[in-house]
Amino acid sequence: MKFPYLKQAGSAVFVDRYITKAHQLLHPWQGDVIKGFGLIGAPLSKSSISHSGASFAPQTIRKALSAFSTYAVEGDIDLKQVVVHDLGDIETFVTDIVASQRRIEETMLEILHQNPALIPITLGGDHSVSAPVIKAFAQVKGKVGVIQFDAHHDLRNLEDGGPTNGTPFRSLLEAGAIQGEHLIQIGIRNFSNSKEYLHYAMENHVTVYTMKDVRERNICSIIKEALNKLKQEVDAIYVSVDMDVLDQAYAPGCPAIGPGGMDSQTLFDAVFYLGKESMVQGFDIVEIDPTIDIRDMTSRVAAHVILNFLKGKQM
Ligand code: CA
Repeated sequence: MKFPYLKQAGSAVFVDRYITKAHQLLHPWQGDVIKGFGLIGAPLSKSSISHSGASFAPQTIRKALSAFSTYAVEGDIDLKQVVVHDLGDIETFVTDIVASQRRIEETMLEILHQNPALIPITLGGDHSVSAPVIKAFAQVKGKVGVIQFDAHHDLRNLEDGGPTNGTPFRSLLEAGAIQGEHLIQIGIRNFSNSKEYLHYAMENHVTVYTMKDVRERNICSIIKEALNKLKQEVDAIYVSVDMDVLDQAYAPGCPAIGPGGMDSQTLFDAVFYLGKESMVQGFDIVEIDPTIDIRDMTSRVAAHVILNFLKGKQM
């Protein structure tokens, strides 16, 4: 006797033949050379200044993709033919932050060497993971420009306890991996930083767009200005999305939540615009702690960030 409705445990979910779910874009990497998108988890959050379970985010963001379809009604674009190779997660060291960062850098470097046409989408972890990822990216790509969405400068000094999630861009500047004039920060906001670190940014020729700039200008005009500057001067552009750039109303799962931040649609518009630019060849999403989130709201926003980036790349 056959049981057509009896499925393997965990797979008996409702299927509609006309709807492709976004998690179906993910394909386990088979080790072949990738020309296109690769998803990599960097589950490190012991480096966070405040308590953080951001190491759990790579899995919840992957899972959140299953909540959405591949079809964007705005623009009539279906991503269902897009392949995102899932390379898995980088195993971090149990207790040693520096060793974990070294593993992330070495793994990314080897992946990028073996897959020169890969566009890596890295899922943190806290923001400390962006330093080793961008170091590897710059070793392979040459002169790199970085567009950072963040409430914070992340330019803290390393002597007072680094490397942490407060220091990644200071680390990159001090290591010479990127130059200050090629770092563009968007969404920096009130009562979240110190004057000394704004001075450090200015002294190092970092471009800073505060939330006031975001409120008073169209985000696409800011992105266009940022791209026009970088495209003259660098070989490739990397985008780092700290989800705490969003207002706490949109990102309750960030350890450093606060008011006065960006709304999610503004971030989607920015990432879509950036996706359209061929020089944008790397991307990360960091600072989501699923253990304090509400119904995975913040991971769901992250899923939309990924989908908007992919949508931009189809244009
Ligand atoms: Ca940050």
